[in-house]
This record gives sequence, structure tokens and C-alpha cells, in this order.
Amino acid sequence: MNEIVVAASRNRHKIEEIEAITKKFGMEIQSRDDAGVPKIEIEEDGETFEENSRKKAEAVMKLCGKVTIADDSGLMVEYLGGAPGVYSARFAGEDCSDEKNNEKLLSLLEGVPYKERRAKFVSVITMLWPDGGQIVARGECEGHIIDVPVGENGFGYDPLFVPDGFQRTFAQMTQDEKNKISHRAKALMELEKLLAERNE
Ligand code: IMP
Repeated sequence: MNEIVVAASRNRHKIEEIEAITKKFGMEIQSRDDAGVPKIEIEEDGETFEENSRKKAEAVMKLCGKVTIADDSGLMVEYLGGAPGVYSARFAGEDCSDEKNNEKLLSLLEGVPYKERRAKFVSVITMLWPDGGQIVARGECEGHIIDVPVGENGFGYDPLFVPDGFQRTFAQMTQDEKNKISHRAKALMELEKLLAERNE
């Protein structure tokens, strides 16, 4: 029988991506709603992606007593000392939108030359077992922030981010193209490697 792993995320797309990996190890992902986890708000007030993803996995584990998996991600811009980082989703304030976050980022980088606009997306996936076991998988995708949004696909900071080795933003790529090189794809590859090592 498959082992049930409860996902802290409610995002169907993320859950499917994670399950594509975990099913190779006989693990079935269940959403926290399907697992009957009460609808609580988990505050993401950690200082690192690792802290936040662990916080989410731990909170859900306490409520369902099963193995859990959670992820946290964001953008780090070198010129801004790593900002927006863990504040990526709410960079322009509590009621912000992707558009407002992008505007704020562009205004902070106004006049900064291309070579100083280095940035990376980071994704951290934490898997926790009720017996204290854990796996932490981190993936990064490096690139530059351009000075006007380009492209219609994706979400968040995608229209401003050109990954290294490409002449297009994430928002100009198809989902399949982005999913081969993204921070999340790399974290998922690392998760697969760590799960394989755990099963040895
Ligand atoms: P979360 O980990 O889903 O909460 O994402 C945090 C925030 O980081 C999002 O709201 C986006 O602003 C940003 N972010 C994370 N991953 C991506 C990505 O692949 N493209 C664009 N923005 C992203």
C-alpha cells in the first residue's frame, strides 16, 4: 500500500509536480484538505526559506500525525542584499499583487546596470516524518533582472527574470521549458536523490 504524504500547499499544480517524484517511492500525496487538516493560517515569519518550509510541514504534521511535505520559495536579488527573499510574495505590502511587487523591484533597481542585476530564484522543499526524520531539498536558478516586464506566461517575478544561458524571461517560456530549469525543478531533483539515498 502507498504511504500517504500530506502536502502543506493547496496549490494543485505544485502537488502534482511533487507527486510525480514521490510516487516513484510508493508515496501518494494528499492535500491537507483531503487529509482533514483544519483550515489554519500558518504564519511564514521565518528568516530563511528553510525555516518557513519546515514551519509549514511541522504545523500540518502536528494536525494530522502523518508524513508531510511543504515548500517555500522566492527571489533573491544580489544588489538588494538578497531581498525580497522570504518576503517575495508580499514585497509591496500586505495587499500587493504580482504587478505591484514587480514595480517595487524595478524602482529599487532603477539605473542599476545589467551586470549588477544578478538574482536567483530559490525553492526549498521539506519532508518531515512523525518519528523526527526529515529531508530538506534546495534548488536555485540564477539569472538577471531586466528593466521592463516581458512575457505573458508564468506568475510572480517571471516577466523580469532572465535565467542564465537564455535570452528570454521565464514569462516568455512555456511551462514545460521553465519546469526543466527552474529552482522548483532543481529542488524536486534533489528531493528525488535524497529519497533514493534514504531508501538504500
Ligand atoms: P511561495 O513559495 O509559493 O509562497 O512563493 C513565494 C513568492 O515567490 C511568490 O508569490 C512569487 O512572488 C515568488 N516566486 C516563487 N517562485 C516563483 C517563480 O517560479 N516565478 C516567479 N515568482 C516566483
